[in-house]
Amino acid sequence: MSGDTKNPYDNACGQIKICAAQMDMEPGLYEILISHKMIHTVSLPIKKDNGEIEVFTGYRVQHNDARGPYKGGIRYHHEVSMDEVKSLAMGMTWKCALIDIPYGGAKGGIVCNTKEMSIGEKEHITRRYTTMISQFIGPYRDVPAPDMYTDAQTMAWMMDTYSVIQGYSVPEVVTGKPIGLGGSEGRAEATGRGAAIILRETAKILGMKLKGSTVVIQGFGNVGVNAAMTLYSMGCRIIGVSDSRGAIFDPDGLNPSKVFAHKLETGSVEGFQGSEKLTNEELLELECDFLVPAALGHQITMKNAGNIKAKVIVEGANNPTTTEADEILDNNGILLVPDILANSGGVMVSYLEWVQNINRQHWSLTEVNQQLEAKLVSSFRNVWDAKEEKGLNMRDTSLAIGVSRVAEAIKMLGLFP
Ligand code: GLU
Repeated sequence: MSGDTKNPYDNACGQIKICAAQMDMEPGLYEILISHKMIHTVSLPIKKDNGEIEVFTGYRVQHNDARGPYKGGIRYHHEVSMDEVKSLAMGMTWKCALIDIPYGGAKGGIVCNTKEMSIGEKEHITRRYTTMISQFIGPYRDVPAPDMYTDAQTMAWMMDTYSVIQGYSVPEVVTGKPIGLGGSEGRAEATGRGAAIILRETAKILGMKLKGSTVVIQGFGNVGVNAAMTLYSMGCRIIGVSDSRGAIFDPDGLNPSKVFAHKLETGSVEGFQGSEKLTNEELLELECDFLVPAALGHQITMKNAGNIKAKVIVEGANNPTTTEADEILDNNGILLVPDILANSGGVMVSYLEWVQNINRQHWSLTEVNQQLEAKLVSSFRNVWDAKEEKGLNMRDTSLAIGVSRVAEAIKMLGLFP
């Protein structure tokens, strides 16, 4: 984990401070942008399968809703902290503004280890959490979605709990639902698929050949797997992947579908036939064209940034790189495509799901993927052109676009009272 001194929230504020200075923003506006409009901490007493009671802690942090209802995922992880959720909620605000969808930003989390919980315990904790935050969420208020260690089933329980409280079915209160409950075609794959599209656009603009290019992916959960599969289908050579247990390497290229089947069977990518075992640190430092961190935050820090040999980093995860590491990568000439652009495919298709739900429609996978493709390509080009014009790196450019759109919205709304 991070060797850097800052906590995730300070890291996020540091990024906005740089951005505000570049934009010559008035101090009061900067204060609004780094403040969270509402922060909810809830305690969740659960009767476990063994009959014992355990009290878990949950958060829902609503950062800013100047451009539309709060939007953002919910993660279940034993290391979830309030500071982390605050920084992730801010990230959602800039992400939604950057790709220009009518949402603000929020994030939620429960401090728990799903690997030690039964399906029944996960259902209890999800329903209790939803009940506790039910008055703060809603289709036009705050729309949760999956994140790390939550999935379509988690969203089904949230939708059901919320609907029971309202007294009628409200599918549009969450996105990332199972397709049979109003979920969108292509939503489950969207974040990884989106990261692959952004990587393809980066290769194109840099004049790098995608076919045969070498890719390393850290994390083999929803984002990593779908990015790997899409990139493999585009002709990339996936030379290394990892999960929380370990990493594997094959210079000739791995077939992600086969690695995934192996993970389903054994619980890990480790031991995949013909692959060499690596540590997580070694994986990040492999020589490759593209490195896609798609696991936890703060993986690329001042400790290892100097050893990264990838030409381009495409951030599939949220906050995988610290501010200190950003500077080192910049100085070493490594191009970094930031999270708020690279992983925005997930929330983009969440938006499409919400639009389908409120209009009582169901679109085909082709229709969804066409809209995802068009949005990501135009957002990428927009960032690239602005970067060329401003002479900033891609992170600062993306943040500048997102932050300035939110700042404009706040100014137009004015302050009440
Ligand atoms: N958790 C995803 C993210 O970090 C998706 C959020 C959403 O769809 O609302 O972007």
